Amino acid sequence: MGVYSHTGLLRPNNEDAYCHCQLSSMNLLVVADGMGGHKAGEVASQLAIDRIKEYFEEHLLEAFDVQELLAQALLFANRGIYEQAADNLEFAGMGTTVTAALVKGKKAYLAHIGDSRAYLYRHGELFRLTADHNLVQQMLSNGEITEDEAYRHPQRNLLLNAMGTASKCEIDEDMVELQEGDLLLLCTDGLTSMLTDDELLVILQENLNPEQLAVRLVDAANDRGGQDNTTVIAALVTAEGQEVGM
Ligand code: CA
Repeated sequence: MGVYSHTGLLRPNNEDAYCHCQLSSMNLLVVADGMGGHKAGEVASQLAIDRIKEYFEEHLLEAFDVQELLAQALLFANRGIYEQAADNLEFAGMGTTVTAALVKGKKAYLAHIGDSRAYLYRHGELFRLTADHNLVQQMLSNGEITEDEAYRHPQRNLLLNAMGTASKCEIDEDMVELQEGDLLLLCTDGLTSMLTDDELLVILQENLNPEQLAVRLVDAANDRGGQDNTTVIAALVTAEGQEVGM
């Protein structure tokens, strides 16, 4: 497991937050990218992480449906951020992206809100597992712009869905069957606004270990200008029954 989070070169503080923890026989990986004035972005992303972990700690033993547990944890986090924002003027309108992967056995359960991303790197190929909840992805899906135009679009930061900005949030859910040797990558848009998927692929093909890879990717984003906070979690799927190498 490799994790690296960096403020970047232009922002005064790091509004990204993350966690990776073992829960019984599962591994939980989460990245969150907060937004809001002053310190609100930092508060929102950290609150998301804390609330998701809290929910898991309280409900893990009673859960049969892991995908549902993950979705409920995100809804619990959404309520916490929304209530905090409603109660404090300084936090009004704050929100965060959340991309979470719960790895159990050879399955990764995904839950996602916003424009942080999950990728799967397998046999030298990179697959994007999440669709950004932003304007450019919508335009791309409608065939109005190309992938290259999306990458350079001036409004690429405009989110259509975030955690904490409304009393309820829409969560994308998915499940991926993992294979030994797969690499699961979670990242905030500080990485993907600086590097295209093709450029990520070139770095992944260097076959670094997860610790080196997380640092290498963040360094590459900073080499491009580091315009945003960048957070990367890289988890290698190891031998049968040992979900994610820690
Ligand atoms: Ca960001």
